[in-house]
Amino acid sequence: READDSALAHQNAFTRCGMRITVCSNIDFKEEIEHLEPTGSEGVGLFRTENLFLDDLKPPQESVQQEYYLEMAEMLSPKPLVIRLFDIGGDKLIYSPVKEPNPNLGWRGVRILIDVPEILDAQLRSIIKANVHGNVDLMIPMISSLEEIEHIKERLEHHYKRISEASHETIYKPGLGAMIEMPAAVELIDEITSMVDFISIGTNDLTQYTLAVDRNNLIVQDLFEKFHPAIIRQLYRIISTAQKNRCRATLCGDMGSDPLATPFLIGCGLREFSIVSSDIPALKARVANHSITECEALAAECIKLSSPQAIKARLEVFLKEH
Ligand code: PEP
Ligand code: MG
Repeated sequence: READDSALAHQNAFTRCGMRITVCSNIDFKEEIEHLEPTGSEGVGLFRTENLFLDDLKPPQESVQQEYYLEMAEMLSPKPLVIRLFDIGGDKLIYSPVKEPNPNLGWRGVRILIDVPEILDAQLRSIIKANVHGNVDLMIPMISSLEEIEHIKERLEHHYKRISEASHETIYKPGLGAMIEMPAAVELIDEITSMVDFISIGTNDLTQYTLAVDRNNLIVQDLFEKFHPAIIRQLYRIISTAQKNRCRATLCGDMGSDPLATPFLIGCGLREFSIVSSDIPALKARVANHSITECEALAAECIKLSSPQAIKARLEVFLKEH
């Protein structure tokens, strides 16, 4: 089976009925790009930039970032590179000078970027300057309001105008994406998908914040349930609204690797995944077993079910039959 999967890895993935499904990689370091080729990865759908922060919590220098992103973009071109703005704070690298009682609900992600313009501006400039081949997009972590998107969009336009006017070579404007990983963003999904070029669903944080279950707390790990009906219904709503508004939707949370989730997500309308590279051959192979109409009927059924057990049981039966 594994041998079959790796043989398929280099082919584009299509459902049984011929719908193209794209599969990219989540990465933390540029060195991982060298190892993407054998997995059949179609690019980088999530580059977590937090690792560029130095040990003493200093933000990376602008020149260092610029070189880093440019090197990544060149290594990948013409494949896409989606750079996520620093998602510091919370369960990630703690940046706050004060000890926060509840960092997951505290100063983190886009909130820090808005409050510390030096960090945001240096990162935006570096990303823009890396986009000489037109294959770089950026996305904003932890969005909970439209104002946050407006703010980043305004800074992106400002820097792009200045940089492109001063540059002798063509520089492309990176596409702007919003991560959907908080229930507030789900409530605002109609507006969000009309404002951005793409959305990327972060099921890890969406599960944490929807169910109020700390994703790293072992005491409540059994309650961290991505097949909870509240998550399943949100996913359906997010993806179908994006489709209605002709906004590209991808999913970069760990759920993208779960075999049970694949037909459900395709049935919601998802056509792009970004997952850990080692899982790509298996996902591509699974896609070929599914047809859109069957997946759509499955998704419509799942959103009517009221417990994780019922949803998982239905998905298991579906996988056995297909
Ligand atoms: C997520 O929250 O699902 C996600 C992809 O981002 P991270 O795991 O880096 O928080
Ligand atoms: Mg997240």
